[in-house]
Amino acid sequence: MNKEEIINKLLAGEMKLYQIDKFCENATEALDIRREFIEKYSNCELNQIANYTLDMEMAMAKNIENPIGTIQVPIGVAGPLKVNGEYADDEFFIPLATSEGALLASINRGASTISAAGGANARVIGDKMTRAPALKCDSIVDAVKIKKWFEDNFDELKSIAESTTSHGKLVKIDPILIVGNTVYPRFVYSTGDSMGMNMVTIATEKVLEKLFEETGVHALALSGNVCVDKKPAAINIIEGRGKTVVADVLIPEEIVKSKLKTTAKAIEEVNTAKNLIGSAAAGSMAFNAHFANIVGAFFLATGQDAAHVVEGSLGITTAENRDGDLYFSVSLPDLPIATVGGGTRLETAQEGLSIIGCTGSGKVNKFAEILVSSVLAGELSLIGALAAGHLAKAHQELGR
Ligand code: NAP
Repeated sequence: MNKEEIINKLLAGEMKLYQIDKFCENATEALDIRREFIEKYSNCELNQIANYTLDMEMAMAKNIENPIGTIQVPIGVAGPLKVNGEYADDEFFIPLATSEGALLASINRGASTISAAGGANARVIGDKMTRAPALKCDSIVDAVKIKKWFEDNFDELKSIAESTTSHGKLVKIDPILIVGNTVYPRFVYSTGDSMGMNMVTIATEKVLEKLFEETGVHALALSGNVCVDKKPAAINIIEGRGKTVVADVLIPEEIVKSKLKTTAKAIEEVNTAKNLIGSAAAGSMAFNAHFANIVGAFFLATGQDAAHVVEGSLGITTAENRDGDLYFSVSLPDLPIATVGGGTRLETAQEGLSIIGCTGSGKVNKFAEILVSSVLAGELSLIGALAAGHLAKAHQELGR
């Protein structure tokens, strides 16, 4: 079948989009036909989407179905940012992809302030990717028995789960929640350099086969939302999910003044009023100014799963006036990230990761420390700008 015939069949509804490939020599030809069909169907021109360099054959193997091209997002760098981590101990230019003007300039100012103060301390304090199926029992009596089955058989279940992966480790099954006759065991894995969602899903599925064999209990859903994947949740904040990371910096008074044009006292005041009290008053789950801005741009530049920005947006920013010096910190409990697998394999993501020396195995903790330090820079700059504005206003008013 030639191109025109395929497009006519698609327009007539006689062929599905995913069936094109079997009439084409390669994925690129199928992609072009699919895009031409969409141009005709939607009466639009997709010349920019058609313009790409990615190997779509490879992308189709793991990253996308029904491709019609790629989108482009501007990528820039902020920095250099000095990071004093256990895995990242150097100065880095931070890759950030965004269409939000002023974001990089702002992070750049924070990076310059932190670097002048000697750098950001950064640590990875947790590695916990989770999967929690929903298991249906007859009654609460049976539900309690199933909870005990997981507790009593943990060692065996650990070896079953780990038989499916050479990198994943089942750390615990905890908590095991019971709601009526449904049980939600939260499987917690360390996943090395991969984000691990596919890994832990496959491993958990294997354990559930054993559960069914031994007890007859089956999973209503492999994910029962106690995981909690791609949604903001208190359990992820308290228990941690993905990598849990922290960063801080102590900035001398004269640097706060020269770089941020404000004082530690004003920054502490703004942080308390906005990030702590304001967030509490609103019932927010995120006690920070804009983690999502930095996490989102960093994720796009490095091939992370963009939907996980919702989890990376959680966490707390603190600020203390220490006799004129500023102590400033960020804590991110829930950061699903990878330097291996998922979207990190795409060529542009590989290049983004290479800017910070984080391609491939053995690099995810370094990646985490650079990212959390970048978040520290973004928070510092925004809170600093608000504090500078509030100080300037106070000075104007006093001058009148
Ligand atoms: P992946 O692309 O399958 O990559 C992970 C695999 O890479 C691991 O299972 C591991 O194989 C291998 N690997 C090689 N070197 C490694 C290293 N140094 N450290 C760790 N693993 C290494 O996917 P994933 O990371 O498990 O999950 C990411 C993908 O999941 C993303 O594309 C995301 O969009 C998708 N996702 C899936 C779900 C879901 O419910 N399934 C939910 C959200 C997102 P071995 O296991 O054999 O060791």
